[in-house]
Amino acid sequence: MRRVISQIVFGFHWLLNAVAFIIELVFCIPVLGRAAKWLWNLVLLLPGIISLIVDFILNLAGIQLEKKMRVGVIVLNAPDVGRVAQPAEIIQGLTFAERVFAEQANVKMVTIVETATIAPGNTAPWLRYESHPSPPAILNVHCNLSAVLEDLWLAGGHFEYFMATRWFASNFRRVFGLGSPLIVFVVRGIENFGGCSLGPLSDYVTIVPNSLICIAHELGHACNLPHTEDPRNLLHHARCDQPQLTRWQVAVLRASRHVSYF
Ligand SMILES: [Zn+2]
Repeated sequence: MRRVISQIVFGFHWLLNAVAFIIELVFCIPVLGRAAKWLWNLVLLLPGIISLIVDFILNLAGIQLEKKMRVGVIVLNAPDVGRVAQPAEIIQGLTFAERVFAEQANVKMVTIVETATIAPGNTAPWLRYESHPSPPAILNVHCNLSAVLEDLWLAGGHFEYFMATRWFASNFRRVFGLGSPLIVFVVRGIENFGGCSLGPLSDYVTIVPNSLICIAHELGHACNLPHTEDPRNLLHHARCDQPQLTRWQVAVLRASRHVSYF
């Protein structure tokens, strides 16, 4: 009987993810699909207001419950050198992010594959190396307005397709904003920058191999945090190796669609 129930639950999950996968394929279409994804992601900001209120009330009672942030990493492949980064460097960047979010915001960073942990030797399920040369549109990218335009055009479609196909079982969470996983794309180059995020518009951040310590900073942007002027702050505009977050930053981060109780 228990086996039948678990098969029904599995089938139900598969069906939800299949529906979400089809929606994701629509979001891969340049311009119209990408614009629809932006609009949808902006709508998904609204439930965050409820989350803010719940957190605020609990904080008044001196309670801050642990929340989770799911992450996965895709390392792109360059035709001349193959994979553009190595596991040890990536884990170092993620370990810093894991520590900052846990200590500052009581947010536990977990992998997109829930049975795995962020640790050397346990990388296979959540750290994907592209085995074939990656499309030029995502191998070398830009930041700021150029990144917005790229997301609307070919790069955005490619990033969305990679996220939807590499971890099929995360599509429901991604589309419906229930702890949407954040995907770190390790790209070959970002003109004039070490990392980039489109904030609430996308579910991914980009990072270059020699700036992997900036993963935490970019994930902060993806969870709706803007830059600050405080040089000790994680979101300082010119550096990204500092561990501090203010109380309002913690509140905003915890209200993001990428951060959930379960
Ligand atoms: Zn920044």
